[in-house]
Amino acid sequence: MILGMVGWRGMVGSVLTNRMREENDFSLAEKVIFYSTSNPGGAAPALPNGDPVLGDANKVEDLARCDVIITCQGGDYTKAIHPKIRAYGWKGYWIDAASALRMEPNAIIVLDPVNLAVIKKSLEEGILDYIGGNCTVSLMLMAMDGLIRENLVEWISSMTYQAASGAGAKNMRELLLQMGALYGSAKDLLADPGSSILEIDRRVSKEFSAPDFPTKAFGAPLAGSVLSWIDKDLGNGMSREEWKGGAEANKILGRPAQPAPGSVIVEGLCVRISAMRCHSQALTVKLKEDLPVEVIEAKLAAANPWVKVIPNRREESLVELAPSKVAGTLSVPIGRIRKLAMGPEYISAFTVGDQLLWGAAEPLRRMFRILVDFKA
Ligand code: NAP
Repeated sequence: MILGMVGWRGMVGSVLTNRMREENDFSLAEKVIFYSTSNPGGAAPALPNGDPVLGDANKVEDLARCDVIITCQGGDYTKAIHPKIRAYGWKGYWIDAASALRMEPNAIIVLDPVNLAVIKKSLEEGILDYIGGNCTVSLMLMAMDGLIRENLVEWISSMTYQAASGAGAKNMRELLLQMGALYGSAKDLLADPGSSILEIDRRVSKEFSAPDFPTKAFGAPLAGSVLSWIDKDLGNGMSREEWKGGAEANKILGRPAQPAPGSVIVEGLCVRISAMRCHSQALTVKLKEDLPVEVIEAKLAAANPWVKVIPNRREESLVELAPSKVAGTLSVPIGRIRKLAMGPEYISAFTVGDQLLWGAAEPLRRMFRILVDFKA
């Protein structure tokens, strides 16, 4: 199989390429061709079976040399190139991190620990487009796998705390610049333990509206604040990120669209916070049965090798349920599980996951491996 890699130097693409090197995935391809939209003809990353020259990611006849294309280039690229390459007659497998094709009827959203059966059935049926899910949705499904797979969940409300890196590399840089500007505004006062906290606070508050306060990427201060809207406004009070929760979760699970019978209803508000990496979510869950907390925890813990149940105690929660602990790992901790005052079927939970790994790169590289096995 000839594997084409598009978008490999972006945020998701570089995490993906590193993971594929670590797991020796590239060796499963007969040949690997790296493509570029900005530097075709340049030097490609070195691999024993890699083409030394970067292909042109905008030329379908160049891309069509591949049997499988993995792209992390973004939605605009997918919208421009995918219809063209299919019209060109290309019958290869398209594996994509962008959301553009996710809800297309002939595309499958991949998250194999949760929906391997859906993926295998689709391969048998000849489906060619396999798309990574929204990061928050994928992480929620990984964490809640044990209850969802046993059909124990009626609905989930997910209130998210999403990291700056979910918006891309330049947003991460801007968050740090904002932090630096806030610190700089009160630096001299912080050096003096006797200085007034109200004066420090006044300087910081003033800095938010300073003309040179960096807000080009986010459009508003994130450091020292939160952003209560992520992605486009759908015009019905819902953000596109919030809509993805219910729409994508049910598609991944192979269930009817919500709120039809048989669907899991997923609702919530998506909020950007000043974490660098890892999305967190506070969940309120309505179960279909009144189950003891120990049974709930055991089912969650047994669902897949990556989920990790954290006992609902202060010390463990503070250490384990934190982006600073989880960033860069495949672990998906879930904790703060307790019964709520609304009734015995209502529970709370808090989960954290690296959105660049299980939320983006990992399902794509695993899909490549599933394809290799399928073709063997
Ligand atoms: P990104 O960092 O902006 O990278 C996209 C492309 O931008 C690169 O492939 C590269 O293409 C080009 N680029 C231009 N200047 C660059 C620079 N200085 N450094 C690196 N690349 C540069 O985008 P992304 O965050 O990886 O997202 C890619 C897709 O994945 C999007 O559709 C996104 O919605 C989706 N996604 C993102 C996340 C996340 O957490 N960030 C999670 C799930 C899904 P050339 O090499 O061809 O120039």
